[in-house]
Order: sequence, then structure tokens, then C-alpha cells
Amino acid sequence: MKIPFNKPWFTGKEIQNITSAASFGHISGNGIYTKKCHSFFEENYGFRKTFLTTSCTDAIEMAALLMEIKKGDEVIMPSYTFVSTTSPFILQGAKIVFADSLSDHPNIDLDDAEKLITSKTKVLFVMHYGGVAVDMDKALSICRKHNLILLEDTAHSIDSYYKGKPLGSFGHMATFSFHETKNISSGEGGLLVINDKKYINRAEIVWEKGTNRSAFSRGDVDKYEWVDVGSSYSPSEIIAAFLYAQLTHIEDIQKTRKAIWERYYYNLLPLAKSGYIGIIKLPEFATNNGHLFYILTKNKKQRDELLNHLNNNMVHAVFHYLPLHSSPYYSKYHDGRILQNTDKLADTLLRLPLFYELTHEIVDIICEKIEDFFMDKGDKGG
Ligand SMILES: *Cc1c(COP(=O)(O)O)cnc(C)c1O
Repeated sequence: MKIPFNKPWFTGKEIQNITSAASFGHISGNGIYTKKCHSFFEENYGFRKTFLTTSCTDAIEMAALLMEIKKGDEVIMPSYTFVSTTSPFILQGAKIVFADSLSDHPNIDLDDAEKLITSKTKVLFVMHYGGVAVDMDKALSICRKHNLILLEDTAHSIDSYYKGKPLGSFGHMATFSFHETKNISSGEGGLLVINDKKYINRAEIVWEKGTNRSAFSRGDVDKYEWVDVGSSYSPSEIIAAFLYAQLTHIEDIQKTRKAIWERYYYNLLPLAKSGYIGIIKLPEFATNNGHLFYILTKNKKQRDELLNHLNNNMVHAVFHYLPLHSSPYYSKYHDGRILQNTDKLADTLLRLPLFYELTHEIVDIICEKIEDFFMDKGDKGG
């Protein structure tokens, strides 16, 4: 049987929680389980205020609405990320200015980003690739200096830290994903984190379709009305109940994933040290949260050959993002700058299977297949 790239894992408590949500007689949004999830994030990570959403994409859309993005506002973000980082801003008429990645990591190159700031720039949107922190002291100082809103795409970054402080607690806002492919999952799902309190009141309204229903539920107003723009961002209690089961197992999930990550790392380190592959570099300020494991090859030809080799040997390995600046949708709007590091990552990055039930024995087998590939070639694989 082929080793899958990803396999969702269930704690066993999900169905029990869903049954219990149903027994409360309230399965639409913002019920008991939604509140439990909010408290979990606020208490464990110190996020000021959180809102469960139907996806991370929707959390980003909410953030764009709350920032009151207008046509022509510029948003700087990496090109090496998922389309969801950009499309909610496109919907609001923003101009996206793509920055390059670092030469030794997929995260945004903040020096390149700073050069792209103009009088129209409103937002710096960073994405912590693989849960490895962007240099947040630097990001914060750029945002203060140029008066920009800092947004963190923390889709990969649950339970990861920068200098001991959780990712998602630095930006004015941050957005998590609970898609099936993420460490903690509810199938589809997301979370908007608000750290700057000036956005909180309006967020409640935007979250509830532009109504003041949250204030009404608390008894702050005696009827609920249409007061602003908004959409249907609040997931049902069925999703929240499922998610809460996963959250209560987060320690076990993270411990297991990190152990798999380390097994890969130490198995493959010799290949990296002898110059066959590039391996993940963790800056001193960052932690690893076991979200993904990748290696880097010399060039695209070698990456594609290694992908074929692994897939022919029953290992489902994959590449990752196709650069957004040269995508069919956006290439006509991009200003023509060459994003050399982004292009190189698109050609040379290869991700290996990583999921809760992956055993260390299988990790060892996968690593042996990678070693075979380079040893059979008798050279550095060029
Ligand atoms: C998964 C992902 C998203 C989107 O998450 P959804 O919950 O599927 O909307 C956004 N950004 C990044 C970097 C992602 O990996």
C-alpha cells in the first residue's frame, strides 16, 4: 500500500462531542462549543479575542473587511504562499505587491518587503511557512516605522512560538486554519485572532452577517438589527464540537508530530551535511511545530526525478506552492520583478508525508529510499 502524504486523525471524542452539542438543542453557530474553543485559544495562547470561522480564507476575508481595505490600497505579502492569503484582499479591490522569500527559507524576505513600501501601502501580511516564525521583532519594527497593519497568516502555525511567544499574538490580527491538512482539524474551519482591541466590536458584527446579534445574545440590546456589512462566518456547533475534541488532544498531537519531524531531520541530516540535499533551517528565535517536513534539491530536474522515484516506490511525496506572482490570474497585474528565491523554491522544494499515525519505522523506510536515490546516482545527483 502506498504511504499517503496526509491522513486525517480522529481522537475518538469527536462524535461524542457532536452528540452532546445536538443534545443542547442548539447546533447553529456561537453556542457552547464555539465558546469553549474561543476560551481555549484565549487562555492557552493569550490571544485577546478570537472568532471561529468557516475557514482560514474566511478569517482573512473578515480581517480585510475590518481593516476597511479600499480600492488601490497596497498589501505586501509573500508570493510563496497559498492563494487564500491573497484572494480576500483582491475581493476588496486591493493591489497585491508580492515580496520574495528569504534565500534560505520560504518565509518572506522582510528587507525586500520594506523596499516595496509606498504611500499606498496599508498592510504587511506575513505567513509563517511550516509553522516556522518570521522574524517578528523586525516585522513589528517595519510596521511601526511605516504605520502599517501587521497581519499574520498562521494557517500552519498552531502551537508554534517566536522567542517564547505564540505565533498569532504579534499581528493586529492573525488567521488560523483547521483544514484537513493542518495539525488540528475540523475538516474545514478557521479562526480569526484579534489582538488590537479597536477591531473587536465591529468583528462581532461582521461575523454575524452585519447584525448586532452577539450584543443581543448577551442582553446588551433588546432587539437585533442590521447595523453594518458582514457575512456568514460563524461555523455550526457541529464543527466547533469536532474541533474542540481535537483541541483537547493538542499536546499529544503536537508531541507525536514533532517526534516524526525530528526522526526525518536526524535521519536526513547526514545527506544534508554531505551536500546532497538542503534541509529545514530553524532560526534561533523559532520553534518547530511539526506541521510539515521538506527537503530542497539542487534543481527542478532533480526534484522531479526524486518525486518520481518516491512515488514509484509507494511514497506519496509532493511539491508545494506555485508562485502567486506568476499565476494565470495575477501575472498580468504583477510589476515584472523577478522573485528569484520564490521561483527556486517552487522548483526545488519537496514535502514528505507527515501525519499523526505515521510510524518511525515508515519514516526510516522513506529516508532510506531518499538515500538510495542519491547513492544510486553516484554523484550529487545533478
Ligand atoms: C491552508 C491555508 C490557508 C487556507 O486555509 P482554509 O482553512 O482552507 O481556508 C491559508 N493560508 C495558508 C498558508 C494555508 O496553508
